[in-house]
Amino acid sequence: MLSLLRAVNNGLIRRRIGLVVMVWCVVVMASLSWNLHQTYHMRKEIAFESARALYSQVLSTRLWNATHGPVYVPVSDEVQPNPYLQGLPHREIEGPEGNTLTMVNPAYMTRQISELARTHHGVIFTITSLNPLRPENVPNAWQADALRQFEAGVSEVGFFVEGEAGERQFNYMAPLFADAPCLVCHGHQGYQEGDIRGGLAVSLSFSRDGRWFGLVASHLAIALLGSLIIIALGGMLSRSYRLLSVSAKVDPLTNIPNRGFFNEQLALEWARNQREKTHLGLIMLDIDYFKSFNDTLGHQAGDNCLIHVANLIQAQLERPADFCARYGGEEFVILLPNTDALGAWHIAKKIHQALFMENLQHPASVFGRVTLSAGIVVERGTFDTAEAMLYAADIALYQAKSEGRNRSILGPITSSSSAPPISQV
Ligand code: GH3
Ligand code: MG
Ligand code: MG
Repeated sequence: MLSLLRAVNNGLIRRRIGLVVMVWCVVVMASLSWNLHQTYHMRKEIAFESARALYSQVLSTRLWNATHGPVYVPVSDEVQPNPYLQGLPHREIEGPEGNTLTMVNPAYMTRQISELARTHHGVIFTITSLNPLRPENVPNAWQADALRQFEAGVSEVGFFVEGEAGERQFNYMAPLFADAPCLVCHGHQGYQEGDIRGGLAVSLSFSRDGRWFGLVASHLAIALLGSLIIIALGGMLSRSYRLLSVSAKVDPLTNIPNRGFFNEQLALEWARNQREKTHLGLIMLDIDYFKSFNDTLGHQAGDNCLIHVANLIQAQLERPADFCARYGGEEFVILLPNTDALGAWHIAKKIHQALFMENLQHPASVFGRVTLSAGIVVERGTFDTAEAMLYAADIALYQAKSEGRNRSILGPITSSSSAPPISQV
């Protein structure tokens, strides 16, 4: 019975510990996903800020160029006369040292800077337009999509893609508006001041973010460590709880179930019996002349006797469902599920005989040895309640006492019965 109690507690506690570990892991995983999300957003924000700074820088350079009208630089291998400015007066002029200077407009200047940035810094600038003057400025798929979004009112577009070398590439684009200086060259395309003429795309390369690996590894370690601590603490708690819950139901002297445990068991077996309409036997036992035993042999000997008798009673029970408890003082009680009067009688008789054979000396008893008396009742539709059954067993026990002790009486005995069904061992 006690091992069953332990097993039930074990299963319950194990399930609870499992649940706490699960909750812990869910909390750690939630923290991991929040951290990963934050890291991604931070990285994206940094990428946006960098791209915006470069975009503004290029825009300022273009504006400076457009504001000052023609800007001239010496013709070189890198700076050839711009064919798109063909036909403009003064596209080439003579420099102070007799060399040729060529006109560089904002678009050409952006291309030149873009070339430098690509070569030296891995940053790509591209001017694109849905209505380009230069065929090379035709947008690719994402750029065309961004340009359409600008026309719908979106102020900027930015996203990460896988770069050609496996790096993270951030593609950014913001619109190019037609300012007054721009219209000098682009007015013939029908633009008004403030119109979106196209967009400036910026592509930046970022190294792969290794932080996610650190985050995943640290969170896994925290989840594992926490789970181990929960399991270890849970194990310690469960051991203490088991000891406590078992000791709350066990009589500390005799180490058999106590009265509280018996009451629980009686309620359980009573309910089962009422449902299944079977026999339920109950035996109430009381050691005879136990006060005199203590008085003559001492309290310690009395305690040892109680332990001895408890073990002896328990040893006579035959079925796993049979249940024995110390009811209090020198009284014991036995529950015998599925046991009729004959069966209960048989158990009581075995106890009397075993105790007799044990021959525990009791100089103050008329029997010269330790004996006990018992009241037996069997429920089969006889009693209204479990308490009534217990009371009837108590009455039968006292009948056994009054008839001379060292015997069993089978109840119920009622005051109205003129000839109660009393039997003796
Ligand atoms: P009867 O034959 O009528 O049952 O007489 P009795 O002396 O056994 O019954 P009584 O109720 O007069 O005395 C019970 C005694 O049991 C009194 C008490 O000192 C003793 N007792 C109760 N609990 C313990 C215990 O834990 N240890 C010891 N040593 N004695 C106990
Ligand atoms: Mg008593
Ligand atoms: Mg007694």
